[in-house]
Amino acid sequence: MGSSLAVRSRGTTKYFGDVVALDGVDLDIPRGEVHGLVGPNGAGKTTFLGLLLGLSVADRGGLEILGAPVDRVLGVPEGVGGFVDGPGLYPTLTARQNLVALARLRGHGTEGGADVDHTLEQVGLLDVADDRVRGFSLGMRQRLGLAAALLTQPRLLVLDEPSNGLDPAAKRQVHRVLADLAAQGAAVVISSHQMDDLAALCSAVTLLAQGRIVFSGSVAKLAAESGRLDYRVLTSDADTTRRVIAGHPGLELVPDRTRLRLGEDAVVARGPVSAVDDLVVRLVGAGVAVRELGPVVPPLEAAFLALTGADDVLASQGAAR
Ligand code: ADP
Repeated sequence: MGSSLAVRSRGTTKYFGDVVALDGVDLDIPRGEVHGLVGPNGAGKTTFLGLLLGLSVADRGGLEILGAPVDRVLGVPEGVGGFVDGPGLYPTLTARQNLVALARLRGHGTEGGADVDHTLEQVGLLDVADDRVRGFSLGMRQRLGLAAALLTQPRLLVLDEPSNGLDPAAKRQVHRVLADLAAQGAAVVISSHQMDDLAALCSAVTLLAQGRIVFSGSVAKLAAESGRLDYRVLTSDADTTRRVIAGHPGLELVPDRTRLRLGEDAVVARGPVSAVDDLVVRLVGAGVAVRELGPVVPPLEAAFLALTGADDVLASQGAAR
């Protein structure tokens, strides 16, 4: 029977000697979702992706992938595609030859040729299909690795930092491929340090720190739970806006040290999202038009910075960016 979950993790724990890389991870990832793993270096992201790819086995807990319990044997589970630590490619072969070789290794004949070309086109490498991989940039290798994973028609795609080394156009292309795959019902699990990527691509994110989950859910939920964020407010009347913020019991007017970067008339309010909602009502009530309103640092990035302890640095710099 098909489970609606691509990944079901209960108490998953993994040690490397004395190091607890994963410490009781409970996580459900439904099919049809692009799920992002975020966290500082050493948080356990790659270890978790490695378990999904069958590169290592957990020491404790229960892990089910695509409805089947993972046993203690190494090897990529049925229906799973992807890679961590870079895709394994043959540098002396061309992009097309690499994919054909992989298709043969997996028992597909040369009839996979059409699939190979279609997949190369999907990742934007059809033009360089007959170039040797040796000369490929990091971003091109990443995309060829993605193509190799797509060829297996995975129901769970697992990628470590898929946007590494990609220029903006290539990034958009990869995003589209991943979003399409999820729309067709596959689950996509990625790790990334690029918050804009995760926010644009993921319907849900999991924040890991020292092998434990500190948050899991939608980016909107993260914003709601992020507590007090700094919001940049641009209105038709900056002076009245400052007065309304200063007089609001739930909000704090942030001293304007970053005026140049945020715009001459921008005002920064610090508070929970509910108070910011109320601020808009009060401003409109006072006849002030709200032209722009948004977090100075996006919630995902703010949560990441809080996790890594870098938020203090950010605050002392006067909320850079
Ligand atoms: P992340 O991907 O979030 O940076 P990792 O999953 O790579 O984190 O690492 C989690 C912890 O496990 C780190 O402390 C790391 O040093 C340790 N670790 C990961 N892989 C190994 C390994 N093969 N041998 C020993 N320690 C490891």
